[in-house]
Amino acid sequence: MMSGDRHGGSTVYENVVAQFDRAAETMGLDPSIRKILATTANEVVVHFPVRLDSGKIEMFTGYRVQHNNALGPYKGGLRYHPAVDIDEVRALATWMTWKSAIVDIPFGGAKGGVQCDPSKYSQAELERLTRRFAFALGSNIGPEYDIPAPDVNTNAQTMAWILDTYLSMMPPQERNRCVHVVTGKPIEAGGSLGREKATGQGIAYCIEQWSKDRSFDLSSATCFVQGFGNVGSWAARLLRPLGVTLVAAEDHTGAVAHPAGIDPDRLAQYVRERGGVAGFPGAKPVDHRGFLSTKADIFVPAALENQITKETAPLLTVRLVAEGANGPTDIEGDRILQERKIDLIPDILCNSGGVIVSYFEWLQNKRSESWDLEEVDAKLRRRILGGYDRVRAAAEEFKTDWRTAAYVVALRRLHTVYTRRGIFP
Ligand code: GLU
Repeated sequence: MMSGDRHGGSTVYENVVAQFDRAAETMGLDPSIRKILATTANEVVVHFPVRLDSGKIEMFTGYRVQHNNALGPYKGGLRYHPAVDIDEVRALATWMTWKSAIVDIPFGGAKGGVQCDPSKYSQAELERLTRRFAFALGSNIGPEYDIPAPDVNTNAQTMAWILDTYLSMMPPQERNRCVHVVTGKPIEAGGSLGREKATGQGIAYCIEQWSKDRSFDLSSATCFVQGFGNVGSWAARLLRPLGVTLVAAEDHTGAVAHPAGIDPDRLAQYVRERGGVAGFPGAKPVDHRGFLSTKADIFVPAALENQITKETAPLLTVRLVAEGANGPTDIEGDRILQERKIDLIPDILCNSGGVIVSYFEWLQNKRSESWDLEEVDAKLRRRILGGYDRVRAAAEEFKTDWRTAAYVVALRRLHTVYTRRGIFP
């Protein structure tokens, strides 16, 4: 089973700092800008009570960390998970800043969450928890200030509850112009077509571009995916029409493999009904090491942080790691992938499809428009491949790895803005 544990003493935020330092050194980033970007701007921690179905009250801790808003309003998801803590949320908020900068969308970076195991609560309890969390955040979020979205264990329904709670706290005259306070909403509540699959779609566009660059034939390729939630399942489903066969999948319930191919639509359906991949009839169970050693061309980690490490990176036999998750590779893992000449499409580029279509949703809400799916997909493709081109060019210019190159692209953009605007006062 995969592990989301902290390990080897390096926390997720320490990974971000190490990645940032490496890029800052590589490009010779101005020391003043470096100081600003090395710190988060605001960190909100809230403790709030929720009434359980039993009538008892339980206290929860929620977070919203805002890293930087030089390029636009703070933007980023909310996750519900037992491992959510200030260190993790800081890291995730910082990655959001880089992500939006790389694909050139006018957002800053933020992230939040509640430390909890959502599988232990009923729908009614999760609704009360979400509404109380939104109430506790109050004006720390806002449609032109900080815009949450789904992340691990949250979805369109979670966003609908936050929207409704936020609007209920506004004067009636203001409600209709604040629908863009969250993105990733249900279509009926102001969501965008194509948002649900957007992260997976972006991953598929990146992999397609990589295959062209490498003259690698995708039509007989194989992949395996870690995490079969929104991101992992959509990536597997959208890679299939390109010819890529899913041969293994893993999540918190276990791992399954079938070298002749797993039907990703059937597996997604099974996960919806059973809560995990374990026991899927179209494949055989494998252990965690067996899963990571799967013989395939592409690995898509789409679960939690720190999965590709000193211990696990040597097991991979793939040509490409396409990071659907945020922070799946730690510093040692990165070094080993490079030594072993495994290509990497780094998280802050590869999984940016989600926030890109969040931006489209936000724009549609502001303009009272609704775009058709073809338009959303075409615009997403253009944006993410624009980021891909800039990262490839920076990797060539600085003769560096793709993660560092992605940081260089983001840091350059932020550097330009700070230089133009200056620092107050
Ligand atoms: N949670 C997603 C991410 O990590 C989406 C964020 C958003 O759409 O704001 O990129």
